[in-house]
Amino acid sequence: MSDLFEQISKKVEGREELSRSRFERLMLITEGLWEIMKKEHNYSDEKLVEMIREIDLKDGIRDGRVLLPPIKCDACNKTIDKGSNKCIYCGNIIDMDIFYR
Ligand SMILES: [Zn+2]
Repeated sequence: MSDLFEQISKKVEGREELSRSRFERLMLITEGLWEIMKKEHNYSDEKLVEMIREIDLKDGIRDGRVLLPPIKCDACNKTIDKGSNKCIYCGNIIDMDIFYR
């Protein structure tokens, strides 16, 4: 039982490390892009903060995240899994907004 627990723990740790690594890489890219915007296009940190607050409020709640309502299939009107662009009920391909999360 202890071996199984260790194997599962190692798998979970491996996935967490991968997520952390991807997150760190994404943060580096974001910071690099922001530095380019400031240096080459004269944007300010204040402007970025203002835009982040505006985006945060897209769902009506200022809480540091945006929780949009679930997507409905336009063919059968059932709720679609957020990670998919295909309806699991009728097979309809959903024309997703590329910024939807
Ligand atoms: Zn459907």
